[in-house]
Amino acid sequence: MKKKKEEKITPNEQQLLDGIAITQEHPLFGYLRINTEMVPKSRLGKNVPAKVSSLGRIYLNKDCDRTPKEWAYIIAHCMLHLCFGHFDAERMPGYWQQITEKQQKWVNKYDAELWNMACDIYVSRFLADIKFGSACIDTTQLANFSSASSEMKIYDQLVELNISPDRNFFGTAGEFPDMIGTESPLEYRYGKNEYISRFAYALASSVRSVINKAGASKGITGKRKSTMEKAAEWFVNHYPLLGGIATGFRIVETFNRNDLNDVEIAAVDVVNGEIYVNPAAGLTIEEWKFVLAHEYLHAGLQHHARRNGRDH
Ligand SMILES: [Zn+2]
Repeated sequence: MKKKKEEKITPNEQQLLDGIAITQEHPLFGYLRINTEMVPKSRLGKNVPAKVSSLGRIYLNKDCDRTPKEWAYIIAHCMLHLCFGHFDAERMPGYWQQITEKQQKWVNKYDAELWNMACDIYVSRFLADIKFGSACIDTTQLANFSSASSEMKIYDQLVELNISPDRNFFGTAGEFPDMIGTESPLEYRYGKNEYISRFAYALASSVRSVINKAGASKGITGKRKSTMEKAAEWFVNHYPLLGGIATGFRIVETFNRNDLNDVEIAAVDVVNGEIYVNPAAGLTIEEWKFVLAHEYLHAGLQHHARRNGRDH
């Protein structure tokens, strides 16, 4: 029998493998354990880096030339379609149909490609907020949709503006839709979407990791560090969804930094992903909870992006 020719890893494959490693090491995405499969370009198309199926599989084009950070972004994008329930009937556009006098049923009615576009915009906005990987899209375009709070609202906005899905530059499959299976919405008669549950848990766990890192940073004295830690831990237990925002921010103590000495208590720089805290402020744990919530919410509510020229 002939010995099988030893398969060499191509430079493109190596970059993809490095990108997969970045997502696996991330406190949020690494936790999700979603299957990825490296496939040749003949499976997806020459200029199609990735697609995700409603069955929970992510197909990655090993012949595409992308940097590891770009791959990390692409993989996270695909994972988020599953974690945000973008294939789920109850989350997809439709209307309530009256069945009996007391009973209503949600009936889906939508343009699958436009729904894919709305979901792409939502996912891209999330990734921009948490500053993960290298975006392969023009993120300035996202500002047009910053006032829509959900995928459904973005979808309505696209319909209202009469935007063609051909104008979707936010996905991971080039000019094609990157979600496979949008035409058959998923229904969970007896169970629930496992990805959504796993994601909520991963968010909580990622906040813990951020807190540990923040606590280990030098300069914050022991007593104050533990107060900050407790305040942030309180968020893990009460508001795990803020964790997605928290992962994108580094906590920087400004105790001895002259350039930041106008930070009396705390400030947030959404663009650079930093929250500045003044450990000399001498706050109680209840007060730190308030301050952290305040700063995270500035980011979460997109106050920077929605300023529209108003005096900051
Ligand atoms: Zn997408």
